[in-house]
Amino acid sequence: MAPTATPAGSRPLSLDEANDWLAIIAEVEGVDQPTVFKSKMSKNFVALAISTEWCIAVRDSNPTQLLWPHKLAHLLCANKNHGIEFRTEFVRLVRRYISLPHAAALQYLFSNKLPNSHLTNDGGTSRTFR
Ligand SMILES: [Zn+2]
Repeated sequence: MAPTATPAGSRPLSLDEANDWLAIIAEVEGVDQPTVFKSKMSKNFVALAISTEWCIAVRDSNPTQLLWPHKLAHLLCANKNHGIEFRTEFVRLVRRYISLPHAAALQYLFSNKLPNSHLTNDGGTSRTFR
């Protein structure tokens, strides 16, 4: 049976929790910890990864856990779109730091080329996560 099309089970993280988690991930990955802050932004966006400043701005104080590897993958990838480099990195981070089932669900979505609308606010490739 194919994994669920929606990466369910992603719990909200406070910004403090996200910072603690990102510190661990950054250390393991051998990169600087990105600065995280809450910012007003268009309702079309949930968060923005800003590579030049190595930071992640979020609209809400408690985004879901999957948002963070999504944004971190944007910082780590040379290409800033949702292409193969991003998808590979995103799935790798999710597998390593969240769970294999979450990674499998994402991989399933990506490999079946489902439209973005099938990926929800849990950290998929919705345009709102650019
Ligand atoms: Zn994105």
